[in-house]
Amino acid sequence: MTKAELQSLLAQPQHIVITTHHKPDGDAMGSSLGLYACLVQKGHHVQVITPTDYPQFLHWMPNNAEVLVFTEDRSRAEKLVAAASLIFCLDFNNLSRINELGELVRNAEGKKIMIDHHLDPEDFDDYRHWNINACATAQLIYDFVINELQEPALVTKDVATCLYTGIMTDSGSFRFPSATADVYRIAANLIDLGAQHWRIHQLVYDNASENRLRFLGHCLSEKLVVLHEYNAAYISVTREELQQYAIETGDTEGVVNYALSVNGIRLAALIIDRPDRVKLSLRSTGDFPANEICKKYFNGGGHRNAAGGVSEEPLEAVIEKFKNILKEYKTQLLQ
Ligand code: 5GP
Ligand code: MN
Repeated sequence: MTKAELQSLLAQPQHIVITTHHKPDGDAMGSSLGLYACLVQKGHHVQVITPTDYPQFLHWMPNNAEVLVFTEDRSRAEKLVAAASLIFCLDFNNLSRINELGELVRNAEGKKIMIDHHLDPEDFDDYRHWNINACATAQLIYDFVINELQEPALVTKDVATCLYTGIMTDSGSFRFPSATADVYRIAANLIDLGAQHWRIHQLVYDNASENRLRFLGHCLSEKLVVLHEYNAAYISVTREELQQYAIETGDTEGVVNYALSVNGIRLAALIIDRPDRVKLSLRSTGDFPANEICKKYFNGGGHRNAAGGVSEEPLEAVIEKFKNILKEYKTQLLQ
């Protein structure tokens, strides 16, 4: 589909589904709800469908009440996907990232539009706005609305609030190398358009349950293992600990960054024994490829400095495997 064809489709009211990756984060929800608020202004029938639930600290976002969680009403989601003429796929580029929704989207009649900033896109889309240099998909939504659709007036206060949230969360509050001067300029524009940066930061980062803070304390005092001989560190979490601290979706977000904050550490991992399987979150500094490890050993992937994967093996075996992988990467870790 060409840009002109997409523009002409969007000139008439359409039935649109917007979806994003499972366990959506701030960028997934910010870009989805930001695009939602743009498209409804044009008279489209729009439904955001997430494959799974998402953290409480994102529920304050404008139009959150309109979101349909697939696992909570599958039959409604199936009908909407089947009836959609356009399906926007945001912040992911591989249909396995949206679980069972993936095959529904693949087989749907609607044209698929991928807007994303991850490596190695799968070829399932009809139109692509993809750039791995973007710090967030929300940045690409801003670009899509302003430069592709040429509709700057659609960026209302609600849209600006959502897009700012996505950019802030995916850029680590503007501290990663991806937060270029252009990103700061976009953020400044979004603030001009009504995004309250101080309030958004507070709602996302100062909105944790008491449990989450105590869980973090437990991880740091009891569970952090620092392997100075590899410039690596990890935190492992058992199923019992998840229960003990009543951990909910989002409560483990950011915990891995504390392991990376230790002086000299180049690779950090958070290894969690979730009820279905072991989930790994890796973070690295500089040019160390965390995504390579996830892709090669843990059926996952991601960005160079932030990646994830899974394992069907028991927690202890996964920890051993991770430590063995460090041996293979020792030279790079000590550089
Ligand atoms: P997190 O550690 O926050 O779960 O994920 C960090 C990044 O790694 C995500 O933004 C995503 O790009 C990627 N990622 C996490 N889990 C997976 C996975 O299972 N498969 C793939 N391909 N990427 C993942
Ligand atoms: Mn993102």
